[in-house]
Amino acid sequence: MASAHLGSPIQSFLDALRAKYADDREGEVATYIPELAKADPELFGICIATTDGYVYEAGDSRHEFTIQSISKPFVYGLALDDHGAELILKKVGVEPSGDAFNAISLHKVTGCPLNPMINAGAIATTGQIVAESSDARIGRILEMFERYSGRPMRIDRDVYESESRTGHRNRAIGHLLRNFDILVDDPTATVDAYFRQCAISVTCADLALLGATLANQGLNPVTGVRAIKEQHVENVLSVMASCGMYDFSGGWIYNVGMPAKSGVAGGVLAVLPGQLGIGVFSPRLDAQGNSARALKVCEELSKAWELHQFNPPYCAQTSRRLAYTAAQRNSSRTRHPSHRACLREHGTRIHVVEMQSNLAFSTTEPIVRDVLDRVGRPLAVILDFHHVTAINGVAVRMLVDLAESLARRGVMVFFTHTQRLDVVRAQVAAYLTDRGEVEALFRYHSTDGALEHCEDVLLDELHALVQLVDHDLHDYEITASLTEDEIALFATLLKHRSHASGEKITSSGEEATNLFLITKGVVGVLLGGPAAAGNRVASFSVGTMVGEMAFLDGAPRSADVVAEGEVETAAFEIADFHRLQQSHPVLHTKILRNIAVSLATKLRKVSQDVSVFSAERG
Ligand code: GLU
Repeated sequence: MASAHLGSPIQSFLDALRAKYADDREGEVATYIPELAKADPELFGICIATTDGYVYEAGDSRHEFTIQSISKPFVYGLALDDHGAELILKKVGVEPSGDAFNAISLHKVTGCPLNPMINAGAIATTGQIVAESSDARIGRILEMFERYSGRPMRIDRDVYESESRTGHRNRAIGHLLRNFDILVDDPTATVDAYFRQCAISVTCADLALLGATLANQGLNPVTGVRAIKEQHVENVLSVMASCGMYDFSGGWIYNVGMPAKSGVAGGVLAVLPGQLGIGVFSPRLDAQGNSARALKVCEELSKAWELHQFNPPYCAQTSRRLAYTAAQRNSSRTRHPSHRACLREHGTRIHVVEMQSNLAFSTTEPIVRDVLDRVGRPLAVILDFHHVTAINGVAVRMLVDLAESLARRGVMVFFTHTQRLDVVRAQVAAYLTDRGEVEALFRYHSTDGALEHCEDVLLDELHALVQLVDHDLHDYEITASLTEDEIALFATLLKHRSHASGEKITSSGEEATNLFLITKGVVGVLLGGPAAAGNRVASFSVGTMVGEMAFLDGAPRSADVVAEGEVETAAFEIADFHRLQQSHPVLHTKILRNIAVSLATKLRKVSQDVSVFSAERG
């Protein structure tokens, strides 16, 4: 567990908050469980845990106290995991009761406790945990808390025995629940497990982490362990929001705006879904049974950091990071000038939309609208997930539905850079029954690969790819503005070679003695490893030249160049080039200029990329 560093404004705020209320002595320590009365009333800790597992601590953040009622929502979550919400709702309701926590408030007809946060509901819930014996039941409950806290948990024997000796009212509740068949086995054993569950020792830091785990959709952000099934997190948070703070639940949600739960030992746990968990501990309780200082601290935190759930940060417009067409920005394939011109003219039919942040309904809806707005007669839409940090089920379904409706109109759709979000592929596969469609969507890992393919398809459609005839040097970058005689002379200097698919044409580090023209096929440029591992940084097609940098600086080859399919090249030696300076200075100058133009084109591509990016950024 990371701890906060000096100079952090967050840490300073927590320290100041603790100092501000340290002398506030409102309220009384609970005494109805005799052992609780022994608590030092001055103890006071505040902790915040983020959903990426960072924990800020102030004051007595590592002092142990008993979890008490804060155990209730978590055991409710375990019961939901064991049986599903449908069955559990038949046993315990979800309505706020307005009664005291230990009231014997059961539904008049069914006998169901009104909610799982009052003792009657909590005891009924503990009774639902699947186990052979009371020991096994508490064993499972302890294991569950260990998943949430990431550390071994233990029961405070003294507090447990103290409550067991005096908990007659809870025993009475247990028997009533048995009477209504809400509990079906021995109520004494269930109430005993409940007493032990309430006597589990926790620290303020544990509470914050328990909260952060719920905020993180049930995944402990430090250990990565799943503590509760994702689909039940919202159920647990809902009962906390409506019933978690005893008879102050309405006032709490109004003022603080976070699902929370408090316990009679003085702990309060609050959760801001998706963002953080808060744990506060201070034993003096107010008239409603909530820790008086914790209440003030949480209220102030909520106000200062604008954490109220009903005032969420607005993020819908931030989900589109970048959008462009192939008329504005191209793949890393270096193409013949005529092809580049063709893409500039017709590239508006290929759309790339880079998404970012969390994709849910409200952040995906603008993406869907944006894609549908950019029509005309689109050939392809590439949706890039590289900067998407999280995505939920509805967002996946919306994007798949969009892809399907585009596909029906004959538009190619690709989802790229989904590797980090393995959920996307799994969810798409679960949603789409046709495996072929799934494969097609994910055919290209990178946007660059997908874009290159779409450009090829577009050029093919426009019959642009056939314009270059093998070995006719007129249309090459390097022969621009050369006369017929000069081309004829230049042609005598070239050495033609054929390369099988996969053949390495040049290797990184080797001495560069020539440049070569691509006269057939496509070559890939690999930096530091194979193409499959994502090392293909660029490619070149017919009419372009590769390796011309060495003509200017004489440096060794900087990358591997590999034939992709059958390739033919024509090599031009640096030595021959130098000889031209004496024998044919004009030709030498023209070639030098063409090499410079080729380099300038590559540089221009870089600035074009940058300008697309900055235009979008405003
Ligand atoms: N073990 C306590 C009881 O049932 C828990 C009460 C609470 O924290 O609200 O009385």
